[in-house]
Amino acid sequence: MTTTTHRSVCPHDCPDCCGLLVDVDAGRVTAVRGDPEHGFTRGVLCPKVSHYERTVYAPGRVLTPLLRRGKKGEGQFAPIGWDEAVARIVERWRAIVDDAGGEAILPVSYAGTMGLIQRNATHALFHKLGASRLGRGICTPAQDAGWKQVMGETPGPDPDEVVASDLVILWGIDALATNLHFLNLVKEARRRGAHVVLIDTWRQPTAALVDQVVLVRPGTDGALALGMLAVLAADGLIDRSFVAAHVDVDGFAALERTALADHAPALAAGRTGIGAAVIAELARRYARARAPFIRVGGGPFRAANGAAALRAMLALPAAVGAWGKKGAGLLASTGTGGAVDLAPFVREDLLPKPTRTVSLNQLGHALTTLDDPRVLSIYVSHCNPANVCPDQGAVLRGLARDDLFTVVHERFLTDTARYADVVLPAPTMLETADLYRSYGQFWLQRTRPVIAPLGQSRSNWDTARALAVALDFTDEVFQRTADEHIDALLAVPSPWRAQEDRAALDAGTPTRLRPPRGRWLTPTGRIRISPSQDLPAFVPAAADAVDEETRRRYPLRLHPAPALHRLNSSFGERADAADRPLQPRPSLRVHPSEAAARGLVDGESVIAENQLGETRAQLLATADVPPGVAVAVGVSTLAEAGGPTVNVLMSPHLTDHGQGSTFSDNRCQLRRAD
Ligand code: SF4
Repeated sequence: MTTTTHRSVCPHDCPDCCGLLVDVDAGRVTAVRGDPEHGFTRGVLCPKVSHYERTVYAPGRVLTPLLRRGKKGEGQFAPIGWDEAVARIVERWRAIVDDAGGEAILPVSYAGTMGLIQRNATHALFHKLGASRLGRGICTPAQDAGWKQVMGETPGPDPDEVVASDLVILWGIDALATNLHFLNLVKEARRRGAHVVLIDTWRQPTAALVDQVVLVRPGTDGALALGMLAVLAADGLIDRSFVAAHVDVDGFAALERTALADHAPALAAGRTGIGAAVIAELARRYARARAPFIRVGGGPFRAANGAAALRAMLALPAAVGAWGKKGAGLLASTGTGGAVDLAPFVREDLLPKPTRTVSLNQLGHALTTLDDPRVLSIYVSHCNPANVCPDQGAVLRGLARDDLFTVVHERFLTDTARYADVVLPAPTMLETADLYRSYGQFWLQRTRPVIAPLGQSRSNWDTARALAVALDFTDEVFQRTADEHIDALLAVPSPWRAQEDRAALDAGTPTRLRPPRGRWLTPTGRIRISPSQDLPAFVPAAADAVDEETRRRYPLRLHPAPALHRLNSSFGERADAADRPLQPRPSLRVHPSEAAARGLVDGESVIAENQLGETRAQLLATADVPPGVAVAVGVSTLAEAGGPTVNVLMSPHLTDHGQGSTFSDNRCQLRRAD
């Protein structure tokens, strides 16, 4: 048998965006490994995606269109052909548009695949239909908004340069689970002598790989940043020449005054739970470092004060002049959006008139309560809202509505697909063409199908085109193949790609993007500490701004954390190896004192509850979690949880800016399951 090896890219919602080498024998994928020539992957894959061939050929793959036979949620289906599936969908949508208007249809897609073509494949179709728009704000909109307010369109620093840092602060990020390749660079920096600090709500797995762990009370990261700034100001550790040259000087002076008056270490200690001496020592270490590098994760910003927290953190590198030094800065996202202009593909201009936007974070409300018009059909692709959305109870009640026509385009019979009227089979990334850029590094890569689509599966783009044709949409955007769209997108020049070798890119070689450097891409050309005279401030999280009765009933701050072997609900389907805990029992970790206070013992079944609902989990008592906090690692399926998952406890409340989710900003109580 002859083995051929092909390049591809990991499509998952992960900043590393790994380059893959895929071995194929007789049309079948036999191995998937990291591309050693990819400048960020360097030949290493995380445990989720190594052996990806087991995902491709997992027994649960949906390989034909399916029509619901049982009740919604039961997962009973019969196979049908594509022609019948498309005809049923189009007939129903035409009737809905005639009766209630296009806004009664809602596309629900998110980050199940990050390829620019397949991720954005349905936008033009739903714009043309005049459908409601989806606010895709589950992940980092507050972080993005906070960055934009201070840094404008300025790209993030180069993660590769962290090896030159002498102080790395990992702030609210379990890099072992979510940013493995960056962590490998941090390890190299540590080998070269860097001091590595982890700031987080609990002693998560990355804690074993750092020099210092600082545990911060949930929702108070901004208070810690401002407390550090107060120390810098009081101790004369501000880099005055950097501030004068690069920062909004008046705003910075006002922030300094505020920090000294309102955020002194003793005050910050009361808010954060970190000793004043620790805050002062951390601030002084930060100021004296030659090249301090802060890498933030998403958790601190999925709170009602998320954007405010990032703005406070962004005052730190401005204060010590970290920007511009090799190996220094603050990385939230590399911000590579300017590399490829998607406007000709997503075609906003096809909207016949402005339509409403429905937040994915409030999908439960949209499906159960929203009116004028009521949502009568959803089209779900590369997203599992039954599982990943907040206020899961409302989402499940909505999905169970008999009058809701639900189409799900997926690779597996997810929790959402089990509620579908029609399921369409989707391919993996190895069966499609795409173009990938990352939010955690600076590489661009084009992919082609490595194998033929399994069964009758069709890509997101090919499916959107088939529906557009059946709806008699004749716009040119629907005439092109995925490859033709990629060619057209790459034909538009971008300063990020000024030096690209187009032939190499077309051949699948990872291509380095060159971010614009040397100036602050803000309206004033300076780092904006106080846009619109609005200073960074500490704002309590929503879960801390509740009344005494709510605190008493739900005393634990609930903290969701990433899993090593799962990405949200993805990879749960790979029940294929006994040595991989792919289908874990849902668990909640609390400090032993919290377990003892409730008469609970390590390992027993508990119910976690709050005002939104309740879920069952195994209690793990561990000193890794401080008192007052309950940590839920990963997201289980409904079947694994035996009912609603931890997301039934998550509020649909939105962040201060960006309409983001507030998964890190909730409370709960525990009781014995029986
Ligand atoms: S999930 Fe992330 S680390 Fe794992 S292979 Fe994909 S891009 Fe790489």
